[in-house]
Amino acid sequence: MEERKILVVEDEKKIALALKMGLNENGYDVQLAFNGLEGKNVFLSQHFDLIVLDINLPGMIGYELCREIRNYNSQIPVIMLTAMNNTDDKIKSFEAGADQYLIKPFEFKELLARIRSVLKRIDQQHLAIGNILKIADLEMNLDSKEVVRNGKKILLTAKEFQLLEYFLRNRNRVVSRADIAENVWDIDFDTHTNVIDVYVNYLRNKIDKGFNVRLIHTQVGMGYILKEEK
Ligand code: CA
Repeated sequence: MEERKILVVEDEKKIALALKMGLNENGYDVQLAFNGLEGKNVFLSQHFDLIVLDINLPGMIGYELCREIRNYNSQIPVIMLTAMNNTDDKIKSFEAGADQYLIKPFEFKELLARIRSVLKRIDQQHLAIGNILKIADLEMNLDSKEVVRNGKKILLTAKEFQLLEYFLRNRNRVVSRADIAENVWDIDFDTHTNVIDVYVNYLRNKIDKGFNVRLIHTQVGMGYILKEEK
């Protein structure tokens, strides 16, 4: 299984670095952010499997960041950390969309156990639905490699499939051409090539053309976003 990526947003550097070290030792890839705004920017810049989020943060408090994260991604697990053992905080965390809640000081192994159980639950959900990525009426089955929109089977080339998979894994998030180049083509972005725009257009013709709701949107000057326009 590929390495899981965890974003840790924690302003106390000592705690943040200790968490990173411990999680690295357990096979997780970790990115740190030291305040709420940085946390949001890092979250938007790449794909993560899980977020560990301190409540008391400068810049943007943890609940607020959790709510923002939920606007972009309703499924990513969020574990909140707090120094206070207070029922209000707990309720607010869950209202903001957190999955788990941990009171400081905690033992590292306790956090690790939570992370493992949350990721395991997510894996089981994926297995239960046959490893399907979904947005609106479009479904991609990663096992059978089938793509269906509104009941209609869509035939994609291998590259188009990879591009759509990347969009689906980052749904509701703007991805730049450089992100796509690196993750789908495994190359550094060369500004002289329009291969990405060409492929996005191929994909549009197959998954959007003839359907009422468009899913692939151009974000001028930034890249593309896969989302269901409400
Ligand atoms: Ca803090």
